[in-house]
Amino acid sequence: MSDKFLAGKTALVTGSTSGIGLGIAKCLAEAGADIALNGFGSHDQAMHDIQSLGVKAIFHGADMRQPSEIEDLIHTVQKTWGHIDILVNNAGIQHVSSIEEFPIEKWDDVIAINLSSSFHTTRLVLPGMRERNWGRIVNIASVHGLVASANKSAYVAAKHGLVGLTKVTALETATTGITCNAICPGWVLTPLVQQQVDAKAQAMNLSVAEATKLLLSEKEPSMQFTTPEELGALAVFLCSTAGNNVRGVAWNMDGGWAAQ
Ligand code: NAD
Repeated sequence: MSDKFLAGKTALVTGSTSGIGLGIAKCLAEAGADIALNGFGSHDQAMHDIQSLGVKAIFHGADMRQPSEIEDLIHTVQKTWGHIDILVNNAGIQHVSSIEEFPIEKWDDVIAINLSSSFHTTRLVLPGMRERNWGRIVNIASVHGLVASANKSAYVAAKHGLVGLTKVTALETATTGITCNAICPGWVLTPLVQQQVDAKAQAMNLSVAEATKLLLSEKEPSMQFTTPEELGALAVFLCSTAGNNVRGVAWNMDGGWAAQ
């Protein structure tokens, strides 16, 4: 397998202006894929990071809560490059609150971004992938797609749902060259988790370092964060020929979290 084995392929990574999505986009670009980026906030750095790896990059700012914007995102990438070979459903948000106090609009947002958006992107890319009889769909779920934590009802429900969608997609494409799998990270130190560390530090009057240690010790036996680069390497493996018959798995990379 050459280093640039994805040259000529295109990848759409949702929620790739920061964190895990950007890390995965960079790994796919290093393997030669052209990258369509998406997400909120500034995308200048992400575009620069991808283009400096010698591949093409485009950006579309679709709000993944909105099916009509998702349609525009998919059609724009298809019109620009003719095809989408790799889809990484990564966009996601978190909200931490008990069920009784969970704001209804936050529930709707978490389900829309973390679950429904993957249904929409998947239904829109599958016809093209079927025509070419090749495709890779990688859903960034979470260890919370496999086990629960208190105060994360919407997130846990969405991620369990995403693991279910992954299995159904894998079954409906099982006799084709399209595969669909989920990656289930434990803690990864991105803006999404930094917010939770900072909230813990404030609530418990701890330093950020103490709150970080406490956060890891509660759930992650390795006491180490998984990195976006490690997750990117797993995504690249799933896109390789070695991943041809890996179908419908939910692969945790969680420092032993789900083994407990
Ligand atoms: P992050 O906050 O760094 O990145 C989230 C990305 O999603 C950003 O690019 C953001 O702009 C984008 N986004 C948010 N709302 C959006 C919307 N409505 N439309 C389009 N884009 C939107 O978070 P992250 O930690 O990199 O999370 C990425 C994915 O990994 C999420 O699905 C998350 O649930 C999952 N995950 C993260 C962790 C972790 O510990 N960080 C663990 C397990 C799973």
